Amino acid sequence: MKNLLDYNMEELMVWLKENSESSFRAKQIFSWIYKGIFSFDEMKNLPKNLKEKLNSNFKIYIPEVVDVYSSNLDGTKKMLLKLEDGNLIESVIMKYKHGNTICVSTQVGCRMGCKFCASTIEGRVRNLTSGEILGQVLRAGEVEGERISNIVLMGSGEPLDNYDNVVKFLREVNAEYGLNIGQRHITLSTCGLVPKIRDLSNEGLNVTLAISLHAFSDEKRREIMPIANKYSISEILEECRNYIEKTNRRVTFEYSLVKDINDSKEDAKALSKLLKGILCHVNLIPVNEIKENSFKRSSEKTIEDFAQILKSAGIEATVRREMGSDINAACGQLRRSYMKNKA
Ligand code: SF4
Repeated sequence: MKNLLDYNMEELMVWLKENSESSFRAKQIFSWIYKGIFSFDEMKNLPKNLKEKLNSNFKIYIPEVVDVYSSNLDGTKKMLLKLEDGNLIESVIMKYKHGNTICVSTQVGCRMGCKFCASTIEGRVRNLTSGEILGQVLRAGEVEGERISNIVLMGSGEPLDNYDNVVKFLREVNAEYGLNIGQRHITLSTCGLVPKIRDLSNEGLNVTLAISLHAFSDEKRREIMPIANKYSISEILEECRNYIEKTNRRVTFEYSLVKDINDSKEDAKALSKLLKGILCHVNLIPVNEIKENSFKRSSEKTIEDFAQILKSAGIEATVRREMGSDINAACGQLRRSYMKNKA
């Protein structure tokens, strides 16, 4: 049986027509779903025979909550969610002054192999459907009891490695009949799949593009990100310039600071030189220490100095505030520790 959340309005209208129903019912069905009604039988304005047809063809599946870990420090909630096939994923709800942000996963696991990341340790299990990504946002709204106004695609998985489903999700979550979350409130983070960044720039979407850069040279980048063997930094930057030209959006560069690997003053100067002239913002991220590797976090002073060097070179830089540090669990950690305990 299909998950109705994998359908968009147009697709549902086509299905209704093919099944001798009025296409305007699609609007009614989605309006119930976005009011939090996930059972066709409770959709009061649908005729009985349509409910029967829907029940025998579709289900409305939202990932189930296995556990929610709440931070006492800043209200961050990390949700461990179960998909219909039993696979586990994580989503994080962060409370900011400008609204609630959810960090969604786009794949079960990931095959990109970044050395600092726990999500990739067992590789990619499978892609999430657009409905499973959307389901995380719906579940987050329910868990939080408040509107989710911002989305970051930075959880487990490389979004552009699941391109079609991710683009479908971006359109769905932005649709007026749906959650209507503005594209400017959505950030997609990629490790740099160059041809897919090009495709994204041609979609007519205006989401913020974030690049997980983490090093200023290909040589250094190759040490921590295998994708650097395939695409060079200069190819990535060329696509970023193209993306900026097409969308008028500032690009974000994420740079995880790892002690003695990429956090020296020379690194900061080289990064400034590299990014000069690009409409961008640098997000400095103190690396998450995970037991599967030996990466250590840079000191506060090193991080501050690094940011200062970028700013002096005219490059906007901020240090990402750590959210939910008391509930630990870097991206991918929750799922791994749950699976280990179960085993
Ligand atoms: S950082 Fe992102 S792209 Fe890299 S392995 Fe982790 S989930 Fe995949």
